[in-house]
Parts: sequence; structure tokens; C-alpha cells
Amino acid sequence: MQYLSTRATSASASRNPETFSTILLGGLAPDGGLFLPAEYPQVTLEELSAWRSLSYADLAYEILRKFATDIPDADLKALTAKTYTPEVYRNARKGENAGEITPLRVLEDEGGNKLILQALSNGPTLAFKDMAMQLLGNLFEYALSKDGDELNIFGATSGDTGSAAEYAMRGKRGVRVFMLSPSGKMSPFQTAQMFSLQDPNILNIAVEGVFDDCQDLVKAVSNDLSFKARHKIGTVNSINWARVVAQVVYYFRGYLAATTSNDQKVSFTVPSGNFGNICAGHIARMMGLQIDKLVVATNENDVLDEFFRTGVYRVRKSGETFHTSSPSMDISKASNFERFIFDLVGRDSERTHALFRKVDTQGGFDLSGAPGADGDEFRRVGEYGFVSGKSTHADRLDTIRMAFDDYGITVDTHTADGLKVAREHMAPGVPMIVLETALAAKFNETIREALGMDAERPAGFEDIESLPQKFVLMRPNVGEMKTFIAAHTGL
Ligand SMILES: *Cc1c(COP(=O)(O)O)cnc(C)c1O
Repeated sequence: MQYLSTRATSASASRNPETFSTILLGGLAPDGGLFLPAEYPQVTLEELSAWRSLSYADLAYEILRKFATDIPDADLKALTAKTYTPEVYRNARKGENAGEITPLRVLEDEGGNKLILQALSNGPTLAFKDMAMQLLGNLFEYALSKDGDELNIFGATSGDTGSAAEYAMRGKRGVRVFMLSPSGKMSPFQTAQMFSLQDPNILNIAVEGVFDDCQDLVKAVSNDLSFKARHKIGTVNSINWARVVAQVVYYFRGYLAATTSNDQKVSFTVPSGNFGNICAGHIARMMGLQIDKLVVATNENDVLDEFFRTGVYRVRKSGETFHTSSPSMDISKASNFERFIFDLVGRDSERTHALFRKVDTQGGFDLSGAPGADGDEFRRVGEYGFVSGKSTHADRLDTIRMAFDDYGITVDTHTADGLKVAREHMAPGVPMIVLETALAAKFNETIREALGMDAERPAGFEDIESLPQKFVLMRPNVGEMKTFIAAHTGL
């Protein structure tokens, strides 16, 4: 399996194909694009049938080996077995089987309309990002131990990525984590989860700004190729290809668990921000999985909803990004979106590059086909199954109350956005699976507002806010950030 940049042309810096292991430790391609397989591997009906009886770990192995062809099968099998165990995914709620790793829960089943929740948030940090990040931690350790190398992970988080990365990398030999977060913008629970880690290989940097300032700093530092090489910088942002691939697995798992035969279809609704999670759904669909609709659910930061309704992709300025009660979706531009656009424009890398250059210079592009637009590919969006919707704070509160009253569960704010939008796209005979992207305990302030009581906390999280916290506060300045990194990598 070979990988290409979405911007690769014969003249670009990434014209040569790469292997899974070489892109594993990097971020953006050298030409500024994102890596994708040269072609998507296909899954046969026979394979799909055989996969119905597999454990999650073995299913992950079967899917990953199609993408990570340069890792020996036995090693990959050991890595997936170590990653997807009930001990790691032990925060399953009452009524869920932790052994299933991503258990399904039927919420509604009336008149052929089936609404299902797929629990992805039973890992160490109570968000779906553990699903990929735990694998990444084990893959990094495996890759680095082969040549005794080291890696400095430099990432940005609005809350969930950072904690998932830190819990996946703490204590891992050869790995150090520099994690940027927008100062004061994470929930107290998220802040405590990250900042209470005292491990010497974990460095928390609170940035005076919003999440996009953090993300811009990561891009700026990563674009300095010599600095990146000198300090052995890698990334774990959602653009990381291995993360996307790890997420492909639970779409297969959700499909297999919700169906009994391979001619059935399901739809997925995905609470979305950086388009990483749902991009994995797109890839599962391109591999042949019978996904009917991929429903993009956004909050008030509706860049993606706007695109899927109109064909206009218009990124927001950082002052236009709302700080909402589903903060992990508070983005103004979606860093994985380029992967989908690349497919939408027929894998034309020059055109992809031109469109995203326009994002940088003019703030967006228009594929609606209207006079003066940049193209008319938006008419093809339906062929890829995409639809969308948005949810507001008031919707979130209503949905959290409704789920509590009607389904007897407390859902988190992001999952509430998903549920609200999913109910607008239900179709008879096609089960709708909503991905549960976090547990409610992480966003307790809004649960209290909606229900007048605290969200349940899994064992071990009772008193996390009172633990001592370790972090540094910095301005959003690229030069100062580089100085800080250089001083702490000891090179
Ligand atoms: C990261 C995150 C999202 C958004 O996922 P993307 O891959 O960025 O689209 C949604 N909900 C929660 C709880 C998250 O942590």
C-alpha cells in the first residue's frame, strides 16, 4: 500500500509515494497536503461475512493490515490485541458489555425506524479519540524501539485530543508530548485530566487564544521542515493518517453489529469538527461498506453544515468561532476536509492544491456551480452519501433531557448534537447509528444545566479537579514556541 499527498504533482515535494510506517511519524506531507492511499483497498462480501464473528481486536487487525502493509502481520496482530482490550475500555456503562469495545445500544425501534448509539468513549479519557490514540501510542513505541529513536509530539487540542494523546503516550519510551490548548477554554474536567499528569514526558502549554491559534502554531512549526527534522517533531492531530485508519474500524464494527446480512445498509451520524471521524466513515464507504448516509452534525460552528447544504466552504476567522457547550467541535476550518475534497474533485491534486491555496488567500472556495464559482462538483456530494445538520445550545439541552427521559441515559453535549441531527435524517428500514463521541462526565456543567444534577462519573474520576496541575502559559507566537521546544528537547 502506497500513500500520496493530496497535493502531489510531478513537481511537488511529495511526488514519491510513501509507506504507512514513514507517514506514521509525520504530519502534513512536505508539500502541505494530506496523505491518502494511492487507492482504497476493497473489502469483499466473503471477508465481510467472515468478519462478523471476530473480536474488535481481530477486526482491527484485518482492516489495518490492508493499510499497514509494511508492518509484519504478527507484529500488527500483537499491537491490536494489546490496544483493544476490555481493560483499556473499562468505562462501559451499565448495560454495556466492555468486551465489545464499542457496544451498540438501541434507543428507538418503531415502525422500521431504528436509532442506535455506538459507544466509542469507554477508554481512559472518556472520548472516542482514545480509539485511535491508544493504537498510535503502541505503534509509535513499536516503530521507535526498532531503531532506538525518539519522537517529540507537538499537537493542539480543544480538550479531547490532548488528553487522549497524553494518556496514550505517558510512560512510552522515546516519546515526549508538547500539547497546546486554548487557555481557559476547556472544561474543568478536561483541564484537570491533562494538567494533573505529572509524567516528565508530558508538557502542557496553555496558549492565550482559541483552538485555531493553537492549530495554526502547530502548522507553522511543522512547515519549518529543518526545525521539524532537527527536533524530531511528529504530530498526533487528527490529520495523522494512522488515527483516521484506526477510526475506520468502528464503522465496520457498527455496521456488522447492527446488521445480519451484507445487503443491508446503515447510516451514521457523526458529531463533527475537524472532519477526522467522519472522514474515516467516508473511507469505510469507499472500501465497499454499505453505508447509506453519512450525516455531518455540527454545533453553532457550522462551516461544514454550510458546505454540505450549499457547496460553499467558507472558513471562519478566529474571532468568528463561537465558544460553545460542545467545545470539541468549535472549529473554524476542518483540517481533514482536504481528504474528502480530493476524492470529490476526482483525485485531481493540482485542483485540490489550488482550492486550498484559495482557502489560505481568500478564506474559502465555492463548488456550487453558481456563476463565478470555483467549480460544480457539489452536485456529486450525494454520490458519497453526505448530508448535514446543525444544533445549538438550546437543542443540546432539549436533547439531553429527551435522552434522559425517553432512553434512560445521560448523553454528552457532542453526542446530543449528533442525536438531534440524526433524527432529522432517519429513513425507514435503514438503521441510523449515532457515534457517541464522549461521556457526559466530561461536560458536566451543561448536564447540570439540562438535568439539574451531575453526570455520573466512572470509577477513578471522582476527585480529579482537586489534583495539583502542571502547565506553562504562552502567547500565540511561533518564534517563542520554537524556542520553548528547542529548550526542552535538549538538542
Ligand atoms: C474531537 C471530537 C469531535 C470532533 O471530531 P472530528 O474528528 O474533529 O470531526 C466530536 N466530539 C468529541 C467529543 C470530540 O472529542
